[in-house]
Amino acid sequence: MFSQFALHERLLKAVAELNFTEPTPVQLAAIPPAVEGRDLRVTAQTGSGKTAAFVLPMLNRLMGRAQPRVRIRVLILLPTRELAQQTLREVERFSQFTFIKSGLITGGEDFKVQGAMLRKVPDVLIGTPGRLIEHLNAGTLDLKQVEMLILDEADRMLDMGFAEDLERLTSECVNRQQTLLFSATSGGNGLRDIVGKVLRDPLHLKLNLVGELNEGTRQQIITADDMAHKERLVQWLLANETYQKAIIFTNTRVQADRLYGRLVAAEVKAFVLHGDKDQKDRKLAIDRLRQGGTRVLVATDVAARGLDVDGLDLVINFDMPRSGDEYVHRIGRTGRAGGEGLAISLICHNDWNLMSSIERYLKQRFERRVIKDLKGSYQGPKNLKASGKAVGVKKKKTAAKKNATQKPKPSAKSPSKRKQPSGLISQDGLAPLKRKLPAVE
Ligand code: AMP
Repeated sequence: MFSQFALHERLLKAVAELNFTEPTPVQLAAIPPAVEGRDLRVTAQTGSGKTAAFVLPMLNRLMGRAQPRVRIRVLILLPTRELAQQTLREVERFSQFTFIKSGLITGGEDFKVQGAMLRKVPDVLIGTPGRLIEHLNAGTLDLKQVEMLILDEADRMLDMGFAEDLERLTSECVNRQQTLLFSATSGGNGLRDIVGKVLRDPLHLKLNLVGELNEGTRQQIITADDMAHKERLVQWLLANETYQKAIIFTNTRVQADRLYGRLVAAEVKAFVLHGDKDQKDRKLAIDRLRQGGTRVLVATDVAARGLDVDGLDLVINFDMPRSGDEYVHRIGRTGRAGGEGLAISLICHNDWNLMSSIERYLKQRFERRVIKDLKGSYQGPKNLKASGKAVGVKKKKTAAKKNATQKPKPSAKSPSKRKQPSGLISQDGLAPLKRKLPAVE
């Protein structure tokens, strides 16, 4: 029940209007101390309801007697334009019964129009670091009277090279009384550094318990021989799976464009989203997916990071993500708010070890699935250590480098005399695995 929180009645009215009945774990953990004014460091994944966990206490702080609008009182920083827009929508939904005004500052929009919006002084400013810095430099932005600073997806902002911008922006908010920092991962040294610099005696809430992730999402792998085989598998899955909306992730822009081309040629209605696309195309792709004009989006990680799209129930990893955390981000888009989802990773021989280290990281074993009509020759490594890792893969990689087209030599032993690759078939594969998290990046 949201009424258990000490929130203003107009905010509770908005919560009821939005049909939020039960708070999610991150909301339960973060709202009370945030309302009390504490600094928080929250580790929570996308899809956990973390936006409301900071938006509600933030709006609560701004309630009270109406004041003339002469200063920006809250600054919310996010890594991408899409996330900033999404957060603005969330803030507007929760503040619909209040007089609180919000503004958005991101790249790709008209600088002068933004300047005019800033002159009207919104209570809450939401933005991406780069463009905010430009406004600071142009003298069109004053953050000196900000009371509350929120950094969302802080780990991703650092990954994207915003460390210096973040330091500058946070130091501009000299008079702030409260800072909340959200990240999807526990982050590295960069994050520890920024946490030490911007938070005062923070409460650290860790909601990212891997075991609790994706409860509503089935996770499968399908082995593939090569890229062309993966492309056929994607087409088959899009034609034969039952889903409302699907995202297919690739690791590179080039691959995203190539796959998109293949899908369009096969008359699949799809959009592609990556960092090379201009703002108009990116917005169009997301709007179409949200409104259901298209059901399929091909995307790279950065472009699709944190997107919240209703009815997204199928994620296909065309390429395996480079780390366990990235995998969690991708999968976090399905099975949201209790819905069902399906995540399928397509695994070539050079994806196998990465896939098995992600399994160990998540302490889960993905379901092995075979599409009868499209069964390839690669079925996973022949030799598996107890850890699920392929033995001798390094050697193969070197050989593959020498001659990319050369097929691996058949083993000297007859295949019939070999034991079946244990990781593929029966054993649950979890018990003997090391607890230590693998370095998969
Ligand atoms: P987020 O992790 O903030 O991106 O939220 C994921 C989705 O869950 C958004 O569509 C929210 O509107 C929705 N959501 C968040 N909290 C709740 C809740 N307590 N009840 C129902 N839906 C929620």
